[in-house]
Amino acid sequence: MFINTVAHDDDLDAFRQEVREFCHTELSGDIRARLDRGQQLGKDEHDRYMKALARRGWLVGHWPREHGGQDWGPERTGALHDELGRAGAPWLIPFGVTMVGPVIYTFGSEAQRDRFLPGIIANDVWWCQGYSEPGAGSDLASLKTRAVFAEDAEGPHYVVNGQKIWTTLAHWADWIFCLVRTDPNAKKQAGISFLLIDMATPGVTVRPIKTIDLGHHLNEVFFDNVRVPAENLVGEENKGWEYAKFLLGYERSAGGAAGKYHRYLAQLRQILGDTKEGGRPLAEDIRFRRRMAQHEADLAALTALGADQHAAFHAAGRPSLIGAAALKLRATELQQAILQTMVDVLARQGLPYQPEALDAGWNGELIGPPEMAGILYEHLTRRAATIYGGSSEIQRNIIAKGALGL
Ligand SMILES: Cc1cc2nc3c(=O)[nH]c(=O)nc-3n(C[C@H](O)[C@H](O)[C@H](O)COP(=O)(O)OP(=O)(O)OC[C@H]3O[C@@H](n4cnc5c(N)ncnc54)[C@H](O)[C@@H]3O)c2cc1C
Repeated sequence: MFINTVAHDDDLDAFRQEVREFCHTELSGDIRARLDRGQQLGKDEHDRYMKALARRGWLVGHWPREHGGQDWGPERTGALHDELGRAGAPWLIPFGVTMVGPVIYTFGSEAQRDRFLPGIIANDVWWCQGYSEPGAGSDLASLKTRAVFAEDAEGPHYVVNGQKIWTTLAHWADWIFCLVRTDPNAKKQAGISFLLIDMATPGVTVRPIKTIDLGHHLNEVFFDNVRVPAENLVGEENKGWEYAKFLLGYERSAGGAAGKYHRYLAQLRQILGDTKEGGRPLAEDIRFRRRMAQHEADLAALTALGADQHAAFHAAGRPSLIGAAALKLRATELQQAILQTMVDVLARQGLPYQPEALDAGWNGELIGPPEMAGILYEHLTRRAATIYGGSSEIQRNIIAKGALGL
């Protein structure tokens, strides 16, 4: 006999219901129609959605109460992300709420908390992440963007020169949190600092990068003698690597919520039923039934891994970097596998990619089923999921080093 020893949490069920109602009311009308077609939202629509979450206090529910949050444990945070994913809600843009916010309230000064946290809590200020450089992705610690300390009549400051790359949504951002080299002579991890830079500062240039899905999400960001007040240094100079790793634990855990994959599987079930071969739906084809069963088993495993990560969080008070690596690896590989199965189904009808169908207001003629453009877009976009946030090979290295105690 199986005995379930996990206490049932009625509060959590009620909260999930509240999130479902939120999705029903807030994601209605034009936004719902666009999401259902896989269309892209603009900054204004994202802002509306993020502000609706902010008004409920859900955007930073996982923050400590003393900093404006609600002291949520990982279960409640996970439940929010799970329900948003199941409802097909827009991406909850993480750069402020999940990434730099926790760094500022954990390692920042009182003045930095007062200055920066309110804008993140209300989603009034948009952030982006300046970690990667052309020669520093997996080997992030070899980054070269240089910040030189100086002092003049206007006060202590850093002069920043260098380049970041793959900077998601830098073209929407007001601020960028950057890893910069402050001591070129120290061991590479030891010479890095964590700096907050106003994107409107003279000398900051943003250049777009077009991706395989033909969209504009990514950018290069150039710094040419950018003057940054010394008060924008987070924590201690040359301790940035510690804060950077702390942030990565939050970043990599965030993608593990299973709700989105439940939605993918529902969509896959639907197109398997709608697509016929030899007069019979592909849902009856033994090869697709096997793949479906594999995806369902992998999703159950991902959910169990998520619960392990919650337990690790309770033990340490922060995400475990090794657990986050495992979660990120499994989640992104499952995501790509399900999308690949969807593409293999849609291939029966050809695979015309019509990215223009993803623009608001497009009224042209669709080739193939209405979900084609959205699924192909998602498939192309998520090819990068096993790269961004640290590639799968790097996650495997982290897990192996953790397991071997290296
Ligand atoms: C869509 C997208 C969004 C991104 N958004 C951001 C962002 O907002 N901010 C930001 O700072 N960065 C961002 N990145 C950058 C991302 O973090 C890096 O692309 C990633 O860390 C890999 O670095 P790289 O591209 O330099 O590849 P490389 O490090 O050059 O790696 C190339 C290949 O070699 C493998 N490899 C490298 N080292 C090892 C090793 N030691 N062992 C085994 N294999 C290895 C890698 O796994 C990979 O397959 C984004 C990337 C993408 C694709």
